[in-house]
Amino acid sequence: MHDATGRIGDIWGPRTPHGRDTIWPVRVDQELADGVSEDEVERWVQSACVLCSNGCACDIAVKDGRMVGVRGRAVDRINHGRLGPKGLYGSWQWSGKDRLTTPLIREDGQLVETDWDTAMSRIVTESKRRQPLAHGFYTSGQLFLEEYYTLAVIGKAGLGTPHMDGNTRLCTATAAAALKETFGSDGQPGSYNDIEACDAIFLFGHNMAATQTVLWSRVLDRIEGADPPVVVAVDPRSTPVAETAERTGGVHLEPLPGTNQALMNGLLHELIEHGWVDREYVDAHTLGYDELAATVAAYGPERVAEICGLPAADIRRTAEIFGTSGRVLSTVLQGFYQSHQATAASCQVNNLHLLRGLIGKPGCGILQMNGQPTAENTRECGADGDLPGFRNWANPAHIDELARLWNVDSLVIPHWAPPTHAMQLWRYVEQGSIDFLWISATNPAVSLPELSRIRDLLSRDELFLVVQDGFLTETAQYADVVLPAAMWGEKQGTFTNASRTVHLSDQAVEPPGEARSDLDIFLDYARRMDFRDRDGRPLIGWSTPEEAFEAWKECSRGRPCDYSGLSYERLRGGSGIPWPCTEKAPEGVDRLYSDSEFPTDPEQCEDYGHDLLTGGSTSPDKYKASSPGGRAFLKAAEYSEPGEWISADYPLLGTSGRSPYHFHTRTKTGRSRRLNEAAPEVWVEVAEADAARLGVADGDLVRVESARGAVKGKARIGSGREGVVFVPFHYGYWDRAGQAPDGQPTAANEFTLTEWDPVSKQPLFKVSAVRVSKEE
Ligand code: SF4
Repeated sequence: MHDATGRIGDIWGPRTPHGRDTIWPVRVDQELADGVSEDEVERWVQSACVLCSNGCACDIAVKDGRMVGVRGRAVDRINHGRLGPKGLYGSWQWSGKDRLTTPLIREDGQLVETDWDTAMSRIVTESKRRQPLAHGFYTSGQLFLEEYYTLAVIGKAGLGTPHMDGNTRLCTATAAAALKETFGSDGQPGSYNDIEACDAIFLFGHNMAATQTVLWSRVLDRIEGADPPVVVAVDPRSTPVAETAERTGGVHLEPLPGTNQALMNGLLHELIEHGWVDREYVDAHTLGYDELAATVAAYGPERVAEICGLPAADIRRTAEIFGTSGRVLSTVLQGFYQSHQATAASCQVNNLHLLRGLIGKPGCGILQMNGQPTAENTRECGADGDLPGFRNWANPAHIDELARLWNVDSLVIPHWAPPTHAMQLWRYVEQGSIDFLWISATNPAVSLPELSRIRDLLSRDELFLVVQDGFLTETAQYADVVLPAAMWGEKQGTFTNASRTVHLSDQAVEPPGEARSDLDIFLDYARRMDFRDRDGRPLIGWSTPEEAFEAWKECSRGRPCDYSGLSYERLRGGSGIPWPCTEKAPEGVDRLYSDSEFPTDPEQCEDYGHDLLTGGSTSPDKYKASSPGGRAFLKAAEYSEPGEWISADYPLLGTSGRSPYHFHTRTKTGRSRRLNEAAPEVWVEVAEADAARLGVADGDLVRVESARGAVKGKARIGSGREGVVFVPFHYGYWDRAGQAPDGQPTAANEFTLTEWDPVSKQPLFKVSAVRVSKEE
């Protein structure tokens, strides 16, 4: 047992080195409330952390009806007992603090307390007087599977609205899109166990050291052990990942924001040029090699070096590491996902692996990572811009399957166009065609780009706004009805991490006051709306989390994300289990595509694909004519310049990102004393050369301004690349006036822009033209 006191300063904890192809040793991290000893804990309740997509398994300590601590689960395949600072100090310490305990309703401009019946009646009255298409649902990456699935059925088969998406659009949409484009379906190919078996780890725009601290400790333990892997970091910032790359003899590539696609084409060019291609594998299992080779032929290292602002030698060395290592693990995250060619660049990571046949084998994983903890479930269950079970909206047979499952007419299920993505959903609010918006467990008043626009939309009189959350967030302050939601530890359900591993989280304590689980709230709405199937029975035939899970199992049966072999009972006591989990594979499947068969068959695939450059859809006929027959697509794209670039007025590139101490908009972590003390306020990271030119010293208050808005924070002079400014995105406002208590605007999204990747529709948080000035 590792006493985790002090893990604020040592976020990855002590090393437990392990060599190649050996099992990662167990280290159980534990944290209990001050004054509570282990003997005093009355119960330990099984769960998993919901503060990032790693999904570390843990037990919650309960005493006197309160959560009083947490410890990692040694038996679990994901974390082998470890927890990071957010899991240790942020998952339970907000418990009981300024929670919403009763519904609120707006009367004469003010939010006042009310009862559930009044609040829900108001919602149902407003809902019933509108057409289905006037409804929009903007949900989260933090609910549980059972809640997403219920919401998806309500939206798709109850109301019949396509306007439903998650804030997962901001963090994980590109992961899904890149997997669909290459492999025909969403579904993480790799496994965390690939860390133990690889010879090289490539982190593409993924500051794992900050975003998934436990996963990074697993990498560090490999590096400290025998036969360590080489690390390559692609990131314009100097992060611990970048330092590790240099330490292990790898490369830290610092491409200019917005140039990832050029870099990836350059790496593919080198692989082909040097013959680091498994032609037998490519010919047997892929489509599109000739077009890919022709596209990347023009991306020699010198040209790419000029576009990306990199030494050509670094590009050559990086390609050589990828081309000559026996086993390569790649991970991809927001540095690639939140850019204008997000899907294109992320697909090129898949292409690197396919060219070398490095997929479906130990140590050869692709991890198109997720940001939020339960983002995977939003995608699987269709509470984002997808259909449940990775079904294809353009395939009538898939719609018929859902119609049979839900016993509704297939015409009820919206499928005349793709489900509405979040950026379009907000546009419909702007245009007024959506005037009923239900937001659950997310805080768009801080997390969406161009916040002045979002504040305008949220405060419109004609918009009926429901917000369901645990706290009176910046967003909730705009609502017409606020519903108090039970949170982690206060409800039961399952969720799935970035490597497809499903965990059960049992209820540890009662929710505060009258707060209810999100599942109960959705079920109440469905009952009051009297949604029925075509035989007149209630559309939603479940009333408990476990019943919802059983219903979901049927929906997933036979699809790539098959849960049919799982049950609450099977998820209790041991490790989480990765899907697909079926009768034939009761322990789940560690890594996908070990048979090199990809779900690209037209009757099976989740999407017919897109042109990566324009986002134009591939028609079903064209897709079928390509006869993929279980082969993966090597999709190519030219590099294109970002829509917004530096100018005389805005000479720097602004990017946003994360701190290891906070999750999302700090709704939970900001209420943890330790985490808040570790990172209490926004800061602005400026490169040394830029700081010298601007006359800015460490700790000076500076203003970062784009054409859309400004943020102020103390300068941190870093060693990042010249011309790039970084601001963490966590820091929102705490009042409706859009100002922090001390009057300083603190949200990075004041300066970000309303544009998105053409395929995944993920917004471009990483490329804004800004200027920085010192505040006197
Ligand atoms: S790595 Fe992520 S899931 Fe694990 S303890 Fe930290 S925040 Fe929680």
